[in-house]
Amino acid sequence: MFKRSILLLLLIGLVLTGCNITRPTPVPGATLIPGRGALKIAFLDVGQGDSILIQAPNGQTMLIDGGRSTDLANTVIIPKLREWGAKQVDVLIPTHPDADHIGGLVGVLESFPVKLAALTGQVHTTQIYERLLMAIRDKSIPALQVRTGTVIPFDAAVKVEVLGPDDEAVQGDDNNNASIVIKLTYGNTSFLLTGDAESRENKAMLEHGFDVRSNVLKLGHHGSRTSTNEDWLQRTQPQLGIISAGQDNSFGHPHPEVIAALEKLKIQYIRTDEHGTITVTTDGMTLQVTSTK
Ligand SMILES: [Zn+2]
Repeated sequence: MFKRSILLLLLIGLVLTGCNITRPTPVPGATLIPGRGALKIAFLDVGQGDSILIQAPNGQTMLIDGGRSTDLANTVIIPKLREWGAKQVDVLIPTHPDADHIGGLVGVLESFPVKLAALTGQVHTTQIYERLLMAIRDKSIPALQVRTGTVIPFDAAVKVEVLGPDDEAVQGDDNNNASIVIKLTYGNTSFLLTGDAESRENKAMLEHGFDVRSNVLKLGHHGSRTSTNEDWLQRTQPQLGIISAGQDNSFGHPHPEVIAALEKLKIQYIRTDEHGTITVTTDGMTLQVTSTK
């Protein structure tokens, strides 16, 4: 409870203009009304993996990744959807075929309505991803093929743009660097959700001329040094970094160099392995952050 209050204080009242923080004073009239007119993004505690659930102001939901175990659907993801009053997943996005992102999505497909899947069309490389594709096909869920520049249909107030992967990455055999990277913009706030993208895909996004600056950055590949360095943080300029990683994971994520870079640049960050599920709520002006631990 103590930690939760601290986190709230960290960001409440930030004034965000575009991607630059001007002055940390509250905006009159911009107080959040929980559950109404707000965009909610929950970085779910799924252990070593990623799962991000988003609810738009109009109630539509987007699920990006689902953690490793299919059980996560019933223990974590669907309970959160129900808590938010969602009757369906409007957009399902598996960032890439690696198991730590896919298992829970297979579980969701088995027991919850899904209206659209956004896919790269990459040849499946894992058994669990093959199961996911089969479930999408068996349930006749429409699939949208996405690439750099695709805008995914969602609440009209929220722009959901795909910054990666490009054709070259999809045709390659490097799963991480063919992750679907989403930039989500609502009002003056923006979120960069990078899957397991590493330096190669980061570089490709810059070469394609995308504005990668964002108020909140979900660090690539669970806080790996192969995804985040000082240069990338200077390009993306986040006010808040989110790290999705499992406690005492065998990869050493997040890597100490990444934490050191965040601290050197005075970027606040929060980790699912330490704080559990992290929810960022915004009215398009201010960010409110809560966590379960
Ligand atoms: Zn991963």
